[in-house]
Amino acid sequence: MKCSQCPVLCGADRDNGVGACGAGGIKIAKYYLHPFEEPPISYKKGSGCIFFCGCSLRCVFCQNYELSRSLRGKDFSKEQLAQIFKQLEEEGADNINLVNPTHYLRDIMGAIEIYRPKIPIVYNTHGYERAEQLKLASEFVDIWLPDLKFIDPSLAKRYTLREDYAKFALPAIRFMAQKPLNMEGGKMLSGCIVRHLILPLAAYDSVNVVKFVSELPPTVYFSLMSQYTPFGDIANFPELQRGITRREYNKVLAAVEEAGLKNVFVQDFSSAKQDFIPKWDY
Ligand code: SF4
Repeated sequence: MKCSQCPVLCGADRDNGVGACGAGGIKIAKYYLHPFEEPPISYKKGSGCIFFCGCSLRCVFCQNYELSRSLRGKDFSKEQLAQIFKQLEEEGADNINLVNPTHYLRDIMGAIEIYRPKIPIVYNTHGYERAEQLKLASEFVDIWLPDLKFIDPSLAKRYTLREDYAKFALPAIRFMAQKPLNMEGGKMLSGCIVRHLILPLAAYDSVNVVKFVSELPPTVYFSLMSQYTPFGDIANFPELQRGITRREYNKVLAAVEEAGLKNVFVQDFSSAKQDFIPKWDY
């Protein structure tokens, strides 16, 4: 079957080869109870993260570079993926967190047919999504956790393979933002959290991201990340050789305040370090 699971529409025969995202069959780098997601996601025991390999976006600064671009991981069947859901649930995960699932949606749906977890399912995506695919995913997703990486197409062109990133990500996030918010104590059972990583020399675009988020329903949470740390395939990008400055951080924080956003997670300025990147299992 020709693959059309992401906006690239490369038409690869994924049963017999790989697509432009580098993915063929299911490949996973790690699954475990992850303590460093936003508080309502990691909650008490941790988020049952499953880190999928391959990516259609391939940001040069990717913090998960080894799996998104180098495809470091191990092959799994959909039956084994269903077993992973079960295992994480039995270990006490507060949810199942599908990290970078876009190009495996067909396989994930197959695994969910075999075993449907009783805990919330999180769809943790870069945001470069087709509307048709999101409608399929909405059959099982409880919590949407999209990145909004950039709005300016020149940034998408410079740092990813997809200049049309925002053309797909903005409507995709508007769709995800419709999910009703349901919290139980401090734990999210359903809803939407939009993430944004501030990049060096791009605070102007982060301000536009804040404006976009402020126009979404007020139930949507915004997670502002300042953890950018030089990593990945960035040798040819001098501006990415440093973390963000306090001035850049403050500029975006001021935009958050001005927009009156209420449901906000803000990462402390001093938290930028590579300790946040998990050690891969395979
Ligand atoms: S998910 Fe991968 S194989 Fe499928 S259309 Fe996108 S890039 Fe091609």
